[in-house]
Amino acid sequence: MALSLRPNCEYCDKDLPPDSLEARICTYECTFCSDCVDNKLSNVCPNCGGGFAPRPIRPAKEWRPGLGVTHQPPSEQRVHLSFSKEEISEFSAKVRGIPPERR
Ligand SMILES: [Zn+2]
Ligand SMILES: [Zn+2]
Repeated sequence: MALSLRPNCEYCDKDLPPDSLEARICTYECTFCSDCVDNKLSNVCPNCGGGFAPRPIRPAKEWRPGLGVTHQPPSEQRVHLSFSKEEISEFSAKVRGIPPERR
């Protein structure tokens, strides 16, 4: 099963296409831009409390048969956070001191 490659940052709604170097994901594929992860979220996913890693690029070219963005295109379903910014900053303050591997 492939990542869905969500199209936007859940926090600021910035576009994050499949070749974006700024996309960050948690293990549930909650997706944010690097600026929000660093400056708004302190590397705490507001949905699950986990940390983030850079989302790898899905190749535009079909290097191997049947694989690439033309075969597994990115999701078009934009996702938005269901928590208020105030609630998120409280949540982040509570969790950010604990390293992701110990949460
Ligand atoms: Zn963002
Ligand atoms: Zn998450």
